[in-house]
Amino acid sequence: MLSFEQARQLIITETKSHQAASPTSLRPLADALGYVLAQEIRADRDYPPFHRSTRDGYAVRAREAVENSTLRCFGEIKAGDTVLTPLEPGTCVQIMTGAAVPPGADAVVMIEFTRRSGDAVTFDRDTQATQNIVAQGCEARTGDLALAPGLRLGFAELAIAAQVGAASLLCYEKPRVAILSTGDEIVPIPETPGPFHIRNSNGVSLAAQVRLAAGHPVPLGHALDRVEDLSAKIELGLQHDILVLSGGVSMGKYDLVESVLKSFGAEFFFDAVAIRPGKPTVFGRCRDKLVFGLPGNPVSTMVTFQLFVTAAIDLLSGAAPRPLPLLNATLSESLHEKPGLAHFLPARLEWSSASAKVHALPWQGSGDIAALRHANCFLVVPADRHDIPAGENVSVLPRLDVL
Ligand code: AMP
Ligand code: MG
Repeated sequence: MLSFEQARQLIITETKSHQAASPTSLRPLADALGYVLAQEIRADRDYPPFHRSTRDGYAVRAREAVENSTLRCFGEIKAGDTVLTPLEPGTCVQIMTGAAVPPGADAVVMIEFTRRSGDAVTFDRDTQATQNIVAQGCEARTGDLALAPGLRLGFAELAIAAQVGAASLLCYEKPRVAILSTGDEIVPIPETPGPFHIRNSNGVSLAAQVRLAAGHPVPLGHALDRVEDLSAKIELGLQHDILVLSGGVSMGKYDLVESVLKSFGAEFFFDAVAIRPGKPTVFGRCRDKLVFGLPGNPVSTMVTFQLFVTAAIDLLSGAAPRPLPLLNATLSESLHEKPGLAHFLPARLEWSSASAKVHALPWQGSGDIAALRHANCFLVVPADRHDIPAGENVSVLPRLDVL
C-alpha cells in the first residue's frame, strides 16, 4: 500500500503526464486574487522612479552635514513635488518621506537628529553619503520581470501589478471540480432527515475545500447507491476537470463507486493509501478527467481532500503544486495509536512566544464532525510510531482555513 507521500507524488506525476494547457482569461486586478498568472508582467519604468527619501528630515551634502555644523534651509520638498532645482552648496532643504531628493544632495538626515532655529539647521551627528535614500532603479529597472507566469496572485503580487500599471491580468481559469456525494442515507441540507438518514455535510465541506484550494466547485448533490443513479451523475461530473466523489469506496455491498467508474472505462492509479482515516481513497482517470473517490466519513473526506486533491487542483490551475504545509510542534500529551497506518488526528496547535505545542483532541473516529470544532490542525502520527511520549517533535497538517 502506498504511503500518503507516495500517493500524492503519483497524483502529481499522473496529472502532469496528461495535462493540457489550462484556458486563460483577462481578469481585472480586483478579481484576480488566488488565480495563477498566465503572462509576464514587466516594470514600466525604474523603481523607485527617482532618488526617494525614506525619512522626514533634511536633504544635504553628507560631507557638509557633520556633527555641530549648521546649514541654511532653503524651502521644502514634499511627496509628489517636481524636483529639478539642484541643492546649492552650504544649504539643505526640508524633505518628506517619499519625496524626490534634489540633484546635488546625497543623504537625508532624520529630523530627530537636527535642531532648527529660523532658517538655520544644526546637525547632532555626522552624516554618511546615501543614508535614507533609495536610489532610482535599485528596486527594479525598466523592463525587468516583475511577475512571472505560473505565479499565484496574492495581495503582494496584486500590489506589484498595480504598481507597474497592469490593471488587468491574463490568468489561468480555475479548474472546475465537480462534487458528488453518494449514499442512500444522505439527504440535502434543508430537508429534515428521517430517523436513519443524515444530511449531506460532505457536499458543503468539499465545496469549501475546493474554494480554499483555488478551484471552482460545481456541486452535483448526491447519488443513491444504485448503478443507474450513480452512472447518470458520474456522467455529469465527467464534464468537469476533476470529479470528486465522497462515499461508496469501501468494501461494503453497496460501495459501487469503483465498479461504476470502471464501467465508464476508468483507469485507477491507486485504491488504498496507508492512512487512517482515509485508507480506501481512490484516484484514477476517466475519459481524460481526474477522478477521486474519497471515503464518506466526514473527517476522512476532509483529510484525504487536503492530502491529495489539492495537488491536482494546483497543477490544473497552472501552478506548481504547493507542498503539504506540514509544521513541527512539540507534543504536549503522549499518544498511543495502532501501528501500521499513518494517523491524522484532529488536534489543537497553540503558540507561545518561543514554541508551538500540539495535543490531540478527544474524538469518536472519522464520523465525528463535532470533534473538529476545536481542531485547527491534524496531528500526523507516522505509520511506524505507535507510542509517542509528550515532549517529542511531531508533524502537524494545519487547517489553513482557520489558522
Ligand atoms: P461510506 O464511505 O459510503 O461507507 O460512508 C461512510 C460513512 O460516512 C457513513 O456513516 C456515511 O453515512 C457517512 N457519509 C457518507 N457520505 C456522507 C456525506 N455526504 N455527508 C455526511 N456523511 C456522509
Ligand atoms: Mg456509502
